[in-house]
Amino acid sequence: MGERGGATVLMAGVLGLAALCAVLVSGGAAAAAARARAQAAADASALAAAQELVRPSGASVEAVAADYAGRNGARLVWCRCDRPDEVVVRVEVEAAIGLGPSRAVAAEARAVVRSPPGGQGLQPAFAAALSCLFGRVPGLFIVSGFRTHQEQARLHASRPDLAAPPGRSKHEVGLAADLGFPSPGARARAHAEAPACGLAFPVAHEPWHIEPT
Ligand SMILES: [Zn+2]
Repeated sequence: MGERGGATVLMAGVLGLAALCAVLVSGGAAAAAARARAQAAADASALAAAQELVRPSGASVEAVAADYAGRNGARLVWCRCDRPDEVVVRVEVEAAIGLGPSRAVAAEARAVVRSPPGGQGLQPAFAAALSCLFGRVPGLFIVSGFRTHQEQARLHASRPDLAAPPGRSKHEVGLAADLGFPSPGARARAHAEAPACGLAFPVAHEPWHIEPT
């Protein structure tokens, strides 16, 4: 009797352990799934916000980040949305993991606006504005972007009619670029679209020279 009772308790103990293991295993899988869901939402949020930097729709960058977090079942916790070329977000999803109450699982993501080719040395906000324009008008390219003082001096010496004296050009501070156009139509479209990207072609006799407004 005593032995049988002991055996029963032992079985119950084993079964209890097995049940606990099953809960832990499914809890681990649920936690991994929640982390993956949070990461996917963070990635979508950061990418959509960075897209807003490049092609502004008029919404605030943070609102876009929050919108895309929400569309992916997450909540935006914070957004570093004030940089011209980078967005970092943290989002949370609610997940029921194991036996306890549901809890928040967080993930972060960072999206960076890449400069167009030839855009190295340009100031980030200007490079992002150029990415905006390049997205609207296919085929544009940078002929000359950032120039050192020496490069500007050399250029001015050979083409004083086209290049400002060294120390006087916005190219030297990363705030001007000379664009190449694949066609006259593309040039006209670039001039038409520039204001929407915060850009201008301020020099009438240099229709390729572009600066931030
Ligand atoms: Zn120029």
